[in-house]
Amino acid sequence: MTINDLSQWLVDYVAAYPEKYNQIAIWREPIMACAPADDRFLRLKEITVPDHALPEDLLPGANTVVVWFIPFKHHLQMDNTGGKRPALSWGRAYLSTNDMINRIGSAVKDVIEKSGGEAALTPATHNFDKKRMVSLWSHKHLGHLIGLGCYGTNCQLITPAGCSGRMGSLVTNLALGEHPLVAADELCLVKAGKKCGKCITSCPVDALSEDGLDRPLCHARLRENFHLLMAPDGLPDTTSVCAKCQVGMPCSATSPLPVN
Ligand code: SF4
Ligand code: SF4
Repeated sequence: MTINDLSQWLVDYVAAYPEKYNQIAIWREPIMACAPADDRFLRLKEITVPDHALPEDLLPGANTVVVWFIPFKHHLQMDNTGGKRPALSWGRAYLSTNDMINRIGSAVKDVIEKSGGEAALTPATHNFDKKRMVSLWSHKHLGHLIGLGCYGTNCQLITPAGCSGRMGSLVTNLALGEHPLVAADELCLVKAGKKCGKCITSCPVDALSEDGLDRPLCHARLRENFHLLMAPDGLPDTTSVCAKCQVGMPCSATSPLPVN
């Protein structure tokens, strides 16, 4: 098995998914990168939290870390663009994408096991430390370390397919090599010294600045949105959504800067 095989498997899986599971087609073609499970991942404990997991914690004998990004289609991004509150369709997309990511997890594990390897994954959610508001297995940080994208001022990973979508990752004992998609140091306009800051001005609670994200403020807004807009329509407690800083931006559907 090669990374191209795995990437093509994911592209085909996502393309077939809406019809197979009777879902609205809200996903564009996914992209994937990978890297050897080497010392670079020790940095996770410095740049996130000291108890962030390492590849070896998920799978003893881990050889490769694989991270993918599934971008949302334009029509879904447009549904949520403008205004100060999230569209109901955005909340539903969050849930259906979580379901898909969990299904991808089981299916990709099967694919790797059938080719003679082992794989370990974490679920789409539930690896989040609510008290510190940090992920203990951060797909975004992994994606950054292996060259799937670069962090934007909106604290999302800007990839060649933009930042509006969802990520997933796995570790495997297969040796799949080093296959980054991005060589540039920055893909965010502000971080590259150019004019933008649209995500900052689009945040309804001023949680974003060039210095970073006020996590408690953002989290409070997500919970408020759930109680105001998602709970009345019967969506589950996990539907904490906003993403006004991730749609209608120059970095939403593509990278605003060359990736190489
Ligand atoms: S909207 Fe502009 S400043 Fe914000 S992350 Fe995207 S490119 Fe960077
Ligand atoms: S998700 Fe919403 S509240 Fe949080 S930083 Fe983005 S725009 Fe602001």
